[in-house]
Amino acid sequence: MQMIIDGKMVDKKEKIKVFNPANDEVVGQVPLGNKNDLKKAIMAANRSKKDLNEISSRKISMALDDIAQELSKNWKDFSRSLTLESGKPIKASRDEVKRSIETLKLSAEESKRIYGETIPLDAGIGGKGFIGFTLKIPLGVVGAITPFNYPLNLAVHKLAPALAAKNAVILKPSLQAPLSILKLLEIMYPYFPDGAVNTVTGRGSEIGEEMVTSEYIDKISFTGSVETGKLISRQASMKKITLELGGNDPLIVLEDADLEKAVEGAVRGSYLYAGQVCIAVKRLIVDEKVADEFSALMVKETRKMKIGDPLDPKTDVGPLIDEKAASDVEKVVAEALNEGAELLCGGKREGNYYSPTVLDQVTPSMKLVSEETFGPISPIIRVNGVDEAIQIANSTPYGLQSSIFTSNIHHAMQAAKEIEAGSVMINKQSTFRTDNMPFGGFKMSGMGKEGVKYAVEDMVRTKLVVINTS
Ligand code: NAD
Repeated sequence: MQMIIDGKMVDKKEKIKVFNPANDEVVGQVPLGNKNDLKKAIMAANRSKKDLNEISSRKISMALDDIAQELSKNWKDFSRSLTLESGKPIKASRDEVKRSIETLKLSAEESKRIYGETIPLDAGIGGKGFIGFTLKIPLGVVGAITPFNYPLNLAVHKLAPALAAKNAVILKPSLQAPLSILKLLEIMYPYFPDGAVNTVTGRGSEIGEEMVTSEYIDKISFTGSVETGKLISRQASMKKITLELGGNDPLIVLEDADLEKAVEGAVRGSYLYAGQVCIAVKRLIVDEKVADEFSALMVKETRKMKIGDPLDPKTDVGPLIDEKAASDVEKVVAEALNEGAELLCGGKREGNYYSPTVLDQVTPSMKLVSEETFGPISPIIRVNGVDEAIQIANSTPYGLQSSIFTSNIHHAMQAAKEIEAGSVMINKQSTFRTDNMPFGGFKMSGMGKEGVKYAVEDMVRTKLVVINTS
């Protein structure tokens, strides 16, 4: 695979290998880009702005639709490549490809409805005789930085809205899983003027600061950890930024919940991509009155999870991204057990794999639940009533998505009002996401929203035109 800079494929002598997390075999390599490559991409992106702006919105929309078609034709290849580089079970990779197609199509639609408005200037002092209207114009150049866990769709969520709004883009993908998105960029870049679509596969620690601080990049759209997000927000200074960061999503189960539905949500939410999902269910906050029944059902359903080769369509839980990730999970589970948590099932690591694990008697101060644990863990925190459940849900610095299972409308609405998170799901787990919904966290989980329409709104600026009619 190669980088794309100024409408050309660019290779380098120095390469970064990409490993299959399921067996540590090399599945590909990408050039190791440096600051100079990034500078070339930035200059090319800036040069392309005029040509990009001259393309009609209709043509941009058609291009995005065509790219969606191409991805659709090759969905099997893309799904396989996603699984090979990320260890994601193939059924989840297929979902990611389907969603990327949808994100492209939504962006094609959105590119046709970037509306300004007329302003009744004569409603203001001194405005009589004037007509005003606004134009939504592109920002210029968008720098996109993406993580390993949804390497295709999260990149598409930045690239496609940026192009829909006629911005040039430079993508810095995660070096842990860059292959599928580079393949898509190879399809994408010929549809646009040279320099409009670029990607530099460099290390965040080497090229990140250059990208974030460059005066020739107008916006940074970042998805990744809180730690990197905080650094970016400090470095970006006056630059526009969107930050989609880590989560620690609670799933509350009240005494009047449909327990089977709640357990189904908890199992799906905790073990999707082995828990390596920003909106995975990371804390089960369960009313004491139903906690015994709930935990027994959780163990029963967890034991049904099929662990194995992510290419096998029957596999539910594959490996973590690398051995360090698996051993980090092992450490926080051991710490929780030392502090009094009770292991109900799982709790075993083999290489990069960590087994789906249910823990009871977890307390909010344990690191396992006070920080973001990226693994297939279901930690049960017992509480008494809705007030305590919400208080604990709000007790971490995170606020991405959240969920509550209850049949009491008053408790559901109390949770909707009081949980400090970007989304509250009622009787559905927090992994629910459609690509058109406003998505983005509160508190340390980020700032700004994605979801195509909302990303586009953040990738244009408003210019006012005033006409003197007198
Ligand atoms: P990460 O922060 O380690 O890396 C994300 C990206 O940032 C990578 O491309 C990396 O190379 C780059 N980077 C690293 N240092 C940088 C720097 N100094 N300047 C600029 N870029 C730099 O995250 P990760 O481990 O790849 O992904 C997992 C994290 O992402 C989790 O915390 C997860 O919750 C979060 N995430 C959030 C969302 C969301 O939408 N809120 C979605 C997916 C993942």
